[in-house]
Amino acid sequence: MKSQTQTKTYSNYVNNEWVSSKRTREVLNPFNGETIALVPESSKKDVDTAIAAARRAFDSGPWRDFTAQQRGRILFAMADIVRKNAAMLAEFETLNCGKPIVESEFDMNDTANCFEYYGGLATKIHGETLPVPDNALNMTLREPVGVAGLIVPWNYPLMLAAWKLGPALAAGCTVILKPAEQTPITTLEFARLVRESISDLPAGVLNVVTGDGPIAGGAIVESMEVDKVAFTGGTETGREVLKGVAASNLKKVSLELGGKSPNIFFSDADLDAAADGALFGVFINQGEVCSAGSRILVQQDLFKKLVGRMKEMMPRVVLGNPLNRETKMGPLVSKEHLEKVEGYIEIGRKEAKLVAGGRRPSSKELKNGYFIEPTIFESDNKARIAREEIFGPVVACIPFKDETDALQIANDTPYGLAAAVWSRDIFKCLRMVKSLRAGIVWVNTMQPCYVESPWGGYKQSGHGRELSLHGVEEFLETKQVHINLSERPIGWY
Ligand code: NDP
Repeated sequence: MKSQTQTKTYSNYVNNEWVSSKRTREVLNPFNGETIALVPESSKKDVDTAIAAARRAFDSGPWRDFTAQQRGRILFAMADIVRKNAAMLAEFETLNCGKPIVESEFDMNDTANCFEYYGGLATKIHGETLPVPDNALNMTLREPVGVAGLIVPWNYPLMLAAWKLGPALAAGCTVILKPAEQTPITTLEFARLVRESISDLPAGVLNVVTGDGPIAGGAIVESMEVDKVAFTGGTETGREVLKGVAASNLKKVSLELGGKSPNIFFSDADLDAAADGALFGVFINQGEVCSAGSRILVQQDLFKKLVGRMKEMMPRVVLGNPLNRETKMGPLVSKEHLEKVEGYIEIGRKEAKLVAGGRRPSSKELKNGYFIEPTIFESDNKARIAREEIFGPVVACIPFKDETDALQIANDTPYGLAAAVWSRDIFKCLRMVKSLRAGIVWVNTMQPCYVESPWGGYKQSGHGRELSLHGVEEFLETKQVHINLSERPIGWY
């Protein structure tokens, strides 16, 4: 495929129009540091204009009268444009965030699946009738929460936008979507495709604004006109979002935050499957994954063997141009992020034992990209590399004695997004499943994620759930309706 390398200039998408901002921001290709696009550096005023459009569309536009079936059809049409343009969108995703093209293609398929799922779900959102002890009919209505601000990180740009957009539109909300400053391209391309292909989507329902987190994201969080914020990002930013929500209109909020997920191997696990699952669990998407298995817990008698096998398999994690189909690991998203990850590797060299990786690759082809070798440490659970989210291809391998010890180490973290346990003993696996404090637990695998099943974290990994039926709940209000069937007076006074 021809590479889309010319610098493109984008505008914000507001009220079905392209609206420029006074200032622009350069968007870079992390493979070579070259500028690939210019996007608006939105001011608070720019974002407020988008919020006002979403507010009008929610309060008085034709969207209010759309039936659930019509909203579902809009989402099916969105799935269709993603499928039809998957190759182009995948290439932009790879150029913009550096992930291998095969993974971007995977993401586009998941993005379309997500729109299809919520397209089908739109007609299944309904209330209930409740048997109250009176001569009355009592029921609930499910209604959209209102104007929703959707704030997205850079690791799965379009897919994570779809995780929010699908349920928000199915519920009947209008939205302002803010992609991460580093990776806005596929979201803007998606808006372009929507504008060209879905003519019956009313103005103001879908708005996209780009820009800096505290300014553009902050304007959404602090707005008195926004009813809900759905945020995915780091735990510290999540705290800022909660402060902004508390200081403004107490809008509803859901948070998908960071993790330090344990990938736990008992000594009866199959060695080849274990080594493969350990590497896949942490190095997919350059380790820039919220659910990365970045703590590999291994029972003592398997520890040396498993770490040794992982080291042997490292050459299979091929670093390269992410547009090449053979590449298994691309560059990190930005120079700043590369420096942060390298900083953690330096900390790891002092507090733990380096087993593999740890350097920038020396090849000429990769020298301008933000590459780092996938890196394995032997560590304990006290080390900073075992406690803090690195969000890159760096893993701490930690030995444990028995089941009790494994559980204690696994749960000894402020996070609770995901965990995996590997063993042929189903009793042991199920005991672990029950006691692990995490929102997602895999058994004998790590990382599969399905739109049909909920995603989200315990503890400081967030509030609420995305995907599945749970995902749409985050965009709905519940109204109780009580209908008195007795014609007599209340008779209290
Ligand atoms: P950040 O928290 O830095 O940013 C996330 C989004 O929030 C970006 O759009 C960012 O804008 C915006 N933002 C930043 N500051 C504010 C603010 N004060 N108010 C409102 N919005 C703000 O995360 P990253 O983009 O660095 O993403 C990595 C993090 O995301 C990791 O911690 C990872 O674990 C988490 N994540 C969690 C997932 C989950 O499902 N639990 C899934 C994927 C990632 P800008 O880009 O301009 O800074």
